[in-house]
Amino acid sequence: MKCPVCKTFELRPTMIEELLPAMGCEQCKGSLVGLLYYRHWAEHHKPSSDTSAPATVAELPADTTSALRCPKCERIMTKYRLTGTVANRLDVCSICDEAWLDGGEWQLLEQLQLSDKLPAVLSDTWQRKIRNESSERTRQEILRRDLGSEDAGKVETIRSWLKGHPAKSTILTYLYRN
Ligand SMILES: [Zn+2]
Ligand SMILES: [Zn+2]
Repeated sequence: MKCPVCKTFELRPTMIEELLPAMGCEQCKGSLVGLLYYRHWAEHHKPSSDTSAPATVAELPADTTSALRCPKCERIMTKYRLTGTVANRLDVCSICDEAWLDGGEWQLLEQLQLSDKLPAVLSDTWQRKIRNESSERTRQEILRRDLGSEDAGKVETIRSWLKGHPAKSTILTYLYRN
């Protein structure tokens, strides 16, 4: 089985974590993880006791942005975003139930405290949430570009104040008419 990124290098058995086997590429340090093994590992691994907010990731590992073919079945793998702020994406073959991690992406998952939450990350709910966050950020950027950051900040303050305000529609109607 060849590395889907380097194409010519043969993947070899390796361990990502204790009890988490994978097929790794010595050239690009990427690895193919069987999601069956992964789910077993995630169920039995002790969750980190550190529940503080995820640390900000200083340096992102290189992400393969081109489409990858599954090393097992040659089908194009599906890309999944991890969060709304991190550009790295995971490549998954749902037929073979395998995920490709580029070199350093496992460590990235750990930093984001997502290494034991892959099934949630690959769910429609998670992916939809990320898309919503991205379009929200785009709208805010457009607002800042059009109004300048000071006025855009005011608009954001008013918006969060209005959100959930019991008289929201009265206030909006008043503003609109004046
Ligand atoms: Zn490789
Ligand atoms: Zn496949």
